[in-house]
Amino acid sequence: MNKIKYYFASILFLFGAMAIAQEEEEVKEGRDPGHYNQSRFKQLYEEFATPNTYRSASGAPGPDYYQQRADYDMNIELDDKNSKIYGEETITYFNNSPDNLEFLWVQLDQNVRAKDSKSPLRDGNGVNFAYTTGNFANTYVSEPFDGGFNIEYVKDANGRPLSYTINQTMMRLNIPQPLKSGEQISFSIKWWYNINDHVNGRGRSGYEYFPKDGNRAYVIAQFFPRMAVYSDVEGWQNHQFWGSGEFALPFGNYNVNITVPADHVLDATGVLQNRKEVFSKDMMKRYEMAKKSYDKPVVIVTQEEAEAAEKGFSEKKKTWKFKATNVRDYGFATSRKFVWDMQAVKIGSKDVMAVSLYPKEGNPLWEEQSTKAVAQTLKTYSKHTFDYPYHKAISVHAKNQGMEYPMICWNYGRPNEDGTYSDRTKYGMISVIIHEVGHNFFPMIVNSDERQWGWMDEGLDTFMQYLAEQEFGKNYPEVIAPNGNYPSRRGEPSKIVPYMSGDQSHISPIMSNPENVYQLGPNAYGKPATALNILRETVMGKELFDHAFKTYAQRWKFKHPTPEDFFRTLEDASAVDLDWYWRGWFYTTDYVDIGVKGVKKYFVSDKPTKEMEKYMADRNLTEADLPPLVYLAEEDSEDFSPELKGKSPTETSQNLKEFMMDNMTEAERAQVVEPKYFYEVTFDKPGGIPMPLIVEYTYADGTKENVTYPAEIWRKNDAEVKRVISSEKELVGIIVDPKLETADIDTANNSWPIKEEKSDFDKFKENIKGK
Ligand SMILES: [Zn+2]
Repeated sequence: MNKIKYYFASILFLFGAMAIAQEEEEVKEGRDPGHYNQSRFKQLYEEFATPNTYRSASGAPGPDYYQQRADYDMNIELDDKNSKIYGEETITYFNNSPDNLEFLWVQLDQNVRAKDSKSPLRDGNGVNFAYTTGNFANTYVSEPFDGGFNIEYVKDANGRPLSYTINQTMMRLNIPQPLKSGEQISFSIKWWYNINDHVNGRGRSGYEYFPKDGNRAYVIAQFFPRMAVYSDVEGWQNHQFWGSGEFALPFGNYNVNITVPADHVLDATGVLQNRKEVFSKDMMKRYEMAKKSYDKPVVIVTQEEAEAAEKGFSEKKKTWKFKATNVRDYGFATSRKFVWDMQAVKIGSKDVMAVSLYPKEGNPLWEEQSTKAVAQTLKTYSKHTFDYPYHKAISVHAKNQGMEYPMICWNYGRPNEDGTYSDRTKYGMISVIIHEVGHNFFPMIVNSDERQWGWMDEGLDTFMQYLAEQEFGKNYPEVIAPNGNYPSRRGEPSKIVPYMSGDQSHISPIMSNPENVYQLGPNAYGKPATALNILRETVMGKELFDHAFKTYAQRWKFKHPTPEDFFRTLEDASAVDLDWYWRGWFYTTDYVDIGVKGVKKYFVSDKPTKEMEKYMADRNLTEADLPPLVYLAEEDSEDFSPELKGKSPTETSQNLKEFMMDNMTEAERAQVVEPKYFYEVTFDKPGGIPMPLIVEYTYADGTKENVTYPAEIWRKNDAEVKRVISSEKELVGIIVDPKLETADIDTANNSWPIKEEKSDFDKFKENIKGK
């Protein structure tokens, strides 16, 4: 510490000594009634699961971490005329857990659309203020649609029937002997169901019917009985599929043959095994070109070809054969209406194909933007996590859809019939493509439990989506006007304010099951994305955050992380204690509101203040009993006297002058610049969440000084903190959070002097008077 600093530190030391003296008084009088530790900075030991050998306290997988595996061999057939789908599958399930399993749980998600589904019966909201015509018709006018699974058989590896019990969307296989730890079992299921109209009904998959040409475009998912997850965290994750809580699925390898009309164009999860059988010669040629085209897509099936195919209605069939390794799910899209384009993207040392499939109704928007958005997503996300490990990523246009599967996803964004489209449609389309392709990373590869924690994939994905959108804008300024500033819907702190400041009875903590959440969009997408954005930009800084976030992605790719694994890893890799941040943003519905409450002006003096006089009198002390002291006298108090004004500290304090003479050389004294102004600034925090206190001080000469006090400033004073400012210049203005970085819900208290903001009523009164 140099002496110049020491000189000011000694003044501050006095403030500290006074505060301690005050505290001692209170303890003597016994006023404190005692309380539990309610600090907002208390560690989350009570909220977090105890670390164990499966999951380490660092947030990394532990030495005994395991996960189950499920392999699928499937033959699927689409009946386009009757919009039915048939399947036969053999599941091989590997029990890598240390437990013996008495039964197995298989998910039958399509049963949410069964005639007797309980899902619609849980709606207790009465009459809606508006209905889509499709929903109204399906609910009140037409016969209930029967879209549940019809299970034809369940057989063991020897072809013997296997006993099973169906409870809504879950099927328990009653295996004759427990599946022992380390063993595997194979069984087969034959099934079919009626495919739903996903546009005029509900669902994350189904068909869209095009009355003008009589065709359907299918986006098919959750279409086969799928193994539930068994893990160290939940045992069997067999919570029912009610509709909001998405999916929890183990990794495995898939062999899938999909038979569709011969004139369909199809793409799916996995590597196509019989390209030469299903592609025309022209398509093969164009495909070879696309593999070498890094700057723009190559059209594999043109719009003219798709329009010609629309009229065909071939009676012949074609089987498309795929193999997928280490995926957690399977999806496909098929129609004779599809236009198809693709290009190569360099990811690390590998080439990945960015692919788009869309009916002509998507053009011209889709041929212009879709594959571009896919490519940008792969680049941005890979940079922040790990190199995209699959060989392709497909964006399929499906009206009103936004849904993700490994390597393939469905996206909305349809131009008007004349081909024109609004900015809203364009940005909505690019954003949803980035979002759904981004889901390849979270949760398709960093495989969190969506049924329990919607935010772990939606929040992380929406956060990454914001980064990818901003990069898309920078790379394509001609697409994103003005100047490539992408108008992201979520991510900027100010965008989450209306939600966080809303009616508390309709807000849930982020750490809630999706089925218990009132507003899933802001809860599972917007708020966690914003929380991570603020963490990155304002709390941790980009370097520490990016390294920690990447560490999480690398630790948990192709594994099943929990929230604690995420929270712990971000601390583990950064040395930033974030329990207060997780507590405030993820475990409560508190909001951010920090303000500047008041400013007091002080002058340096040798004369004891009234408070000091009392302190001495209580202890029978005189000035002679104490070391030489310096005081700060507040301008609006009895301690102040006018002769202190306008002078420097060594002019008004002989004690200070002597100290400097005794302790500093002449050369050192010559360097000292004495502050003339001393202020005590009080900041208050009406909001529950502690945040860094970001302050802009403005001085009389127009200069500004920006100081960020760490969130820890609130550790011992949750409601109010005070800072002493010493300066050569007069302080004329203070703004808290000048760049709106913290999602502060009320900025009316963010400035000093208080900006006179007239209320609407005042303006109204003035108006009346004027007239
Ligand atoms: Zn999503």
